[in-house]
Amino acid sequence: MIPFVSKTVFILAVAAAFVCQPAQAGRRTHTVYFEGQENELHVYRISGSKPGKTLLIIGGIQGDEPCGFLAADSYVDFSLKTGNLIVVPRANFPSILKRERQINQDMNRKFSDDHVVNYETRVVHVLKKLICESDCFLNLHEGSGIYSPVWESQMKNPQRYGQSIIADNNFLDPAKGGTPVDLAAMAGTVIEKINQNIDDPFYHFHFNNHRTGQADTRHKEQRRSATFYAADICRIPAFGIESAKSLPLEQKVRQMIDAINGYMAVLDIIPETPGIDLKKPQMQYMIISVNDSIPVVVGKMQRLKIRKGDTVQVLDVVANYERGLSVNILGVGSNFNDMKKKIQIQASTRIEAKKDFYACGSVFLDIDEPGKDVPTRLAVTDSAEKKTGLQYKLLINGKQKFVDNYSRITLDHGDILVIEDVLNSPVDPASYVVNFKGFVGNKSFNSGEDRGYPIDTGADGVLMPRYSRDKKGRHYHVLTTLEDKEVGKLYIDMQL
Ligand SMILES: [Zn+2]
Repeated sequence: MIPFVSKTVFILAVAAAFVCQPAQAGRRTHTVYFEGQENELHVYRISGSKPGKTLLIIGGIQGDEPCGFLAADSYVDFSLKTGNLIVVPRANFPSILKRERQINQDMNRKFSDDHVVNYETRVVHVLKKLICESDCFLNLHEGSGIYSPVWESQMKNPQRYGQSIIADNNFLDPAKGGTPVDLAAMAGTVIEKINQNIDDPFYHFHFNNHRTGQADTRHKEQRRSATFYAADICRIPAFGIESAKSLPLEQKVRQMIDAINGYMAVLDIIPETPGIDLKKPQMQYMIISVNDSIPVVVGKMQRLKIRKGDTVQVLDVVANYERGLSVNILGVGSNFNDMKKKIQIQASTRIEAKKDFYACGSVFLDIDEPGKDVPTRLAVTDSAEKKTGLQYKLLINGKQKFVDNYSRITLDHGDILVIEDVLNSPVDPASYVVNFKGFVGNKSFNSGEDRGYPIDTGADGVLMPRYSRDKKGRHYHVLTTLEDKEVGKLYIDMQL
């Protein structure tokens, strides 16, 4: 196997508060603030390969408004061609856990004129920095009733919030100077797109100017909100997106997504669809049943003790990918996929998980030595490695043989050798390359890995003498490497 080539995607997790990395092209970063605390805050930055505007999306600032954080979640794994996103799906995680608007104080009323110090203060401090770092800001909410510019009913009137995009003014004088930004027009373009997906005009979105800074505003309390901070201090366009609370969740989330997509289009932030995310495949654990027992969870590099002749069934593999997963119980079963098959085990072996052709983790099956007490229940143990060095598990003409690292074996012309595995390894044996020099196991893709292939020493063209140590086909060797460094050898002498 070859090391998996990870693309430019990387995940960065730092505990330090108030650390802001500059967005880098074609990258994704994940920053965790207040790690391990109740108010843990996850900030995802996605940057396109081409520079552009930065849109900040904040969801879950009030925990009883789920459509915001559920919609924001959809953008965390996004890839962008142009521009940047900063996504904070859950600004107020404690309030989400309680499904309450607030815990100590309304977090969206703490962006100015607030002197009470609590976790909300610390989160708001981070959010303020993110807002000023951005070119546009969306605060995702659910509002009660339905906003209408004219009074229609108790639930649908100018005082209500639902089905509206709120700004604190019609125009904004941007921080960088220049012509005022027409917030009403910007929202109008987006509202047109949202309404295309809303059949019933009763629920159509409207622009809702709170005129927050004006003396006669109906919404003086909004002067302490995140959007007002964005407009007043950072001087960037900022909008509250309000889905009506009473609507079905799926519709509320859809409206949020249409709004975010609409703003991305207005700001020339262009997604890459589908995005490419080639993170290194990593198995977490396998779920294994022995003799139809209740399944046990066996983690990467853990060992499961069984008895000779037991039937083992791998029911599932959990990895950082969902598709392309398989398992191979080395030396038994199929050479392709042993997932869900009941396979009788006669000798200690290893189960290798793969994502496509990449080995991504192993667990071990240990046969109890005869005469030892048989455990009454399945025992999963951590890899307690024996003190001995690497060993090779070979199959010579169908007979198992264990040999120490750097030892010498003699084969007769015509013997069939299978290098089944390396044993006693402190790391996952799947991460080695075990290469019989002068033999090619996988002819379509020569990775150097030769475990599992029958090596017929008598057949024409199977062994290539020019790769033997004496160039005459008498002395071959098997080279074992880990990350391209030698960790072992076997010397093979051929009796011709
Ligand atoms: Zn709200």
